[in-house]
Amino acid sequence: MATLEPRYRSALAWFRRDLRDHDHAALSLALQQAREVHCVFVFDTDILDRLPERADRRVEFIWESVRELQSALRDLGGDLLVLHGPACREIPALAGRLAVQAVYANRDYEPQAKARDARVARALDARGIAFVTCKDQVVFECDEVLSGSGKPYSTYTPYKHAWLKRLTPADITRHPVETHAHALARHHPPAPLPTLEALGFRRTNLLQLIPAGMSGAARLFEDFQERIDDYHAARDYPAVKGPSCLSVHLRFGTLSIRSVVAHAWYMGGPGAETWLNELIWREFYFMILHHHPRLAEGRSFKPEFDAIVWPGTEEHFRAWCEGRTGYPLVDAAMRQLNATGYLHNRLRMVAASFLVKDLLVDWRRGEAYFADKLIDFDFAANNGGWQWAASTGCDAQPWFRIFNPVAQSEKFDPQGRFIRRHVPELAHCDAREIHAPWRMPAARQRQLGMLVGRDYPAPIVDHARQRERVLALYRNAGRP
Ligand code: FAD
Repeated sequence: MATLEPRYRSALAWFRRDLRDHDHAALSLALQQAREVHCVFVFDTDILDRLPERADRRVEFIWESVRELQSALRDLGGDLLVLHGPACREIPALAGRLAVQAVYANRDYEPQAKARDARVARALDARGIAFVTCKDQVVFECDEVLSGSGKPYSTYTPYKHAWLKRLTPADITRHPVETHAHALARHHPPAPLPTLEALGFRRTNLLQLIPAGMSGAARLFEDFQERIDDYHAARDYPAVKGPSCLSVHLRFGTLSIRSVVAHAWYMGGPGAETWLNELIWREFYFMILHHHPRLAEGRSFKPEFDAIVWPGTEEHFRAWCEGRTGYPLVDAAMRQLNATGYLHNRLRMVAASFLVKDLLVDWRRGEAYFADKLIDFDFAANNGGWQWAASTGCDAQPWFRIFNPVAQSEKFDPQGRFIRRHVPELAHCDAREIHAPWRMPAARQRQLGMLVGRDYPAPIVDHARQRERVLALYRNAGRP
């Protein structure tokens, strides 16, 4: 990349969900356009104050990643200022204090983030400071992959084909940082990092579950590279280490989307191609949310389904949240989510489908529960996943297709290994019994020392009956 003549005396690079010191579009551009670049991260109280729990794995993940980023930027000759307050106030104030001429950031696509950035841009503009934003979080932005008639796609397959057709090596070229690092500003004394406790949060079990920061991302990606060839075959079985587990790192940008897309694209073969398809789903849902911002207001993509009044009970919703439905795979999934903040993709689909189509609970309640618990929570992907499972979304599961939770369990956890890991009450059931333990004769239950209804819940609903009820709800939706 050609080196540009510096345009500004000094600038500020604002890190948000791009917590890395390499292949970083905004930082790279800032370093090329300014003689001196300060770096900042804000623990944004407009976001943190809304979190329901003070022990939140995501905040700890960010804190750990910011700590590593600060140290990495120091190694490059710079530093990272870390602030705590509302970003829309802190950034313009800091830019004013440092007397920078421009603030650089990577673009964010969620409606709330866009509103925040618009406020920051206005406040900076009032001080005569430029706000420069870059594409970094995605390979293609929301208006870059359109149909032949210039319209956004609403189905995935043609979008994917158009996305792949557009892809060239230039789209996944690295944005260099190291080669321009001489422009990084150092701070004396070094910028302090507030403790997690000073931010009002407590430690969780995060670090026993997933490594954070750029080093964690690199470690996981390296591990996945050894398995990527089998991804297409292994990815649907939760007891197997099939998927990459990189979602939280893609969420917070501790590795670059360009680098992982490049790896999959150049590698080719069924495993890498299937994985690349998943990365394209990620961009598909960003694009859908951008073109349909009403989704962020709780609306269904298919408006006719907003007419459904979901009859599910609070008691059933709580049982689902706590993994007490009596359906082992669903319970194992929800217990995994509660204990770790991660959930395998197949299980997200099974658990979501069960809440909506077996318990008849409004999908928005499940969406909100996942939003609180998922370590990789991303509004676009979560909303897309829920609306897919509830059949209310674009390119969703057809409403008359209903997962049978026992059949899903038999197919995707045939030995019950995943269930045993998370539902110890069923540890001694054999592979045929574990998917529907209520079918075991009483004598067998006594032999195992485990009674359904006493040691493990009896099913809280009858799948066949609920299936008929939910089909009627969908069938009648929108009818006068
Ligand atoms: P891999 O299988 O290794 O996939 C690689 C990457 O591709 C993921 O890290 C993710 O960034 C992306 N990806 C994969 N599948 C999807 C998908 N269906 N939609 C969008 N991106 C995808 N993903 C999130 O990142 N955040 C969420 O909040 C989220 N909520 C979901 C809710 C429901 C109800 C469903 C059905 C899916 C949801 N997903 C979400 C998508 C998917 O389940 C996760 O991305 C995946 O399980 C993360 O694990 P992984 O990194 O091992 O994935």
